[in-house]
This record gives sequence, C-alpha cells and structure tokens, in this order.
Amino acid sequence: MEDGARGCGDLFELAYEDRLSPYQYPYTKAYEMMSCFEGLLEYALATGSEKWRAAAVRFAYRLMATDITLLGSAGTTHEFLDHAAVHQTDPAPGGAGQETCVSVTWMKLCARMLLLTGDPLFGDCFEQTLYNAYLGTLNTGHVCNAGEIQRGFLIPGLPVVDSFLPFDSYTPLLGGTRGRGIGGALILPDGSYYGCCACIGSVGVGLAPHLGLLRAREGFAMQLYLPGSYRTRTPAGREIVFAVETDYPAGDTVTVRLRSAARETFALSLRIPSWSGRNALTVNGSPWPVTPGVTLLRRRWQDGDTVVLRLDMRVEVLRPTPFGRDVLRSRILWRTCEMVPEVLEEDAGHMRRAAFRRGPLLLAQDARLGAPAGPLSLPASDAYLPAEPEQAAALPFPAVCAVRVQTGSGTPLRLVDCASAGRTWGEDSAFAVWLETGPLPEETGESAARS
Ligand SMILES: [Zn+2]
Repeated sequence: MEDGARGCGDLFELAYEDRLSPYQYPYTKAYEMMSCFEGLLEYALATGSEKWRAAAVRFAYRLMATDITLLGSAGTTHEFLDHAAVHQTDPAPGGAGQETCVSVTWMKLCARMLLLTGDPLFGDCFEQTLYNAYLGTLNTGHVCNAGEIQRGFLIPGLPVVDSFLPFDSYTPLLGGTRGRGIGGALILPDGSYYGCCACIGSVGVGLAPHLGLLRAREGFAMQLYLPGSYRTRTPAGREIVFAVETDYPAGDTVTVRLRSAARETFALSLRIPSWSGRNALTVNGSPWPVTPGVTLLRRRWQDGDTVVLRLDMRVEVLRPTPFGRDVLRSRILWRTCEMVPEVLEEDAGHMRRAAFRRGPLLLAQDARLGAPAGPLSLPASDAYLPAEPEQAAALPFPAVCAVRVQTGSGTPLRLVDCASAGRTWGEDSAFAVWLETGPLPEETGESAARS
C-alpha cells in the first residue's frame, strides 16, 4: 500500500485524485491493473477505508469510460490499456488485442462494482462482455492451438502434445480469425501446454448465474435475463421461485413467473439496459411504467404473478469517436521513471468505420456469408437501420442471431452476432465488427468544395 503498487508512481493515489484515466498511469498492463484495484477494494472493505473504496470505484468508472471497446474488452494495441474506447478502430499491430484475461477480469470487476454500488451500468457492462468478447472466445471447435506457441516458449527436444485450450486468447475487432496466439503460453514437462486466458476464462461462466437474481434491500434485483429458475426466500422468509422464460438476447421478451404459497409485499427491480430506448413492461397483463436504468416493481405479490419485459431490438449503427491527436499510453524508462508518450493521430482510416448492434449483441460480418462489394454506404443521420431476421435454415452455420440489414441501396448486409462468427478458426470464417464505410458526409462536403 505504501508505494501505490508501482515504484514510478502511486497508482492508488492517482485513482483517488481522479484526474487521469488508467491508460495515462505509469503502468498499463490491462488485466493486472483491474486485479490490483479489485484487491484495493477488498482492502478498503476490510479496513473500512472510505478513501481506498472511493479510489477503486473511481478507477472502475474511468476504465468504463475510456478503455472498454464495443466487444466489452480492452487493449487493442496489445494487452495494455490504450484508450481503446476511442482508439478501437486503429489496426492492432500483431493482432494481440482484446485479451480474454482482460475481458474476464473486467467482468469480475463489474460484478464486484455492481454489488457495491448498485449502478446498473456495471450490469450493462458485464452483459456486454459476456455476450460478445467472452462467449466468442469459447473454443467450441476444440481447435488445437499448439501451432500458436511461440518458439521462445518451446523446450528444445520436448515434443508438444496436440491438445486444445478451452478459451482463445485474442479477439479481432477490425477483421481476422479466432485462436491466434496463446497468451502466457506455458509448456509443461509432459509436453502439454497451457496459457493465462485458458486458466482464468472459466470465471466468467461461473459468475454469470450469480448475477441473474440478486437480493436487494427491499426484495430482489434482476440483473441478467438468463432462462431458468431461482428458488429463494422472500424478505419475510417464505419460499419463492422466480421462473424466467426467455430466448433473450436473440429474442426481445423476458417473462418472469412467481411461484409462492403466500402473498407478500416486496420490491422486484429490473435492469433496463442503457441501449434499450423503447421498452414495454406489464404485470399480469397491465402496463407498468419503465424507468431507464432500474425499474422498481413494488407491490403485493402472489402465486402466478407474471412480469413481461420487452426490450429494444432495433439494429443500431455505431460510429467511431473522433480523437484528433491523442496519447495511447506511456512507455516507462524504468531507470529514470521517465514516461515516453506514444501518440496516435486520427486519420480517415480510423473514422471511416461503422459497427452494428442489436440489443446487447454486437453484430459481425463473417466471410461465410459473403463480403460486401466495397466500403458500405450508410445514411448520414440514421441511428437505426431496418433489418429482417434471417431464418436459421438459410444460414450455412449456427448463430444466436442473424439479420439482413438494409444499409442503403443494394443488397442487404448479412450479419450474425459476433460470438457466433469466426467458428472455423480459419480464413474461411474471417470476421469483423468494425466495417469499412465510404467517406463521411463532412469529407465529401470538403472535396466538393475543393473541386
Ligand atoms: Zn491471458
């Protein structure tokens, strides 16, 4: 605690002061930083330190604002914090970005912050990472990664045993394949191998069910809309079951049925995701007003009561954030503790991009569905585009969600949820979530003025 975790600068004081963002700190290795502040929070709770509690919470909010990408991971240039919220359309050298360790440690930090602050934005962030960066890294094809082990990790004379790791390590954003590179590859004496992402990835699936239904001060809080049943006790100690029926996030509707032997008054709060602009909620068929963020249903509940929540599943167009000239991060010269900034300048290549989101699912283009003829031509001002669901029978591979998006004139764009994309682990299913677009409206205006 005394030296603030690093010799070249007190990270904890920097977080408490809240003037810099984590990518500007003198140490930026992404998931280690998140773990470090998880530790600071536990220390604060154990000692009752309001100062260090505030520092950990401020760190998490800063991270959310400056480093989390559309996939819900961080670190696009490597495994380091690099202001990725605005730099995520910059081509990542070597492709070793969006590390699974980063995604899952961010999920851990969000879960902790959700329980501590009750802020539904941390529930939004957990869900964003779960459905996009995290589920996408599951090596469901049991693809052997041995060929990805770097030469420096190999032990001379020891043959590598063919096997597969449960999680991939890196996820492309601008175009690429899954399963490239193994974070922290380690060869074991019997020739088998392992890696950091494969090791801690399972924390994500372990955490998710715990955030479905939480106990709150006056009742319960539903944070994730996972199908299944929760058997628990009401504030008065009576047994109750919340049965959740849904195909969310493919579908837009979540139905919650209560089973309880007695009547009782308590509150059930529902997280209304920040991306959901149009919502509809009913209790036993009667409309109930929706409050953005958290909607509180405080009433006298009884057996058979049914809550139906419908969320906004329009396809939204997302654009890069302009950044001009910006510091990505700082390289530290350890002998002198001098910080050498790495600067990035915005150009047309960064800005001529668009991504598409449907509910919590980021959509991707997968080579198996054909590539567009060229850069997309999008309407200048539309935040949402018309889209038709694609029937499973029309797809050459399984997907949680598939749509045909009408981007303007011409053939509709065929997109799938990004976690379903890339599942041959080869070039035949290369995929991208940030797609190239033509010149922006302001660019065409300039060139017309010059000609
Ligand atoms: Zn890793």
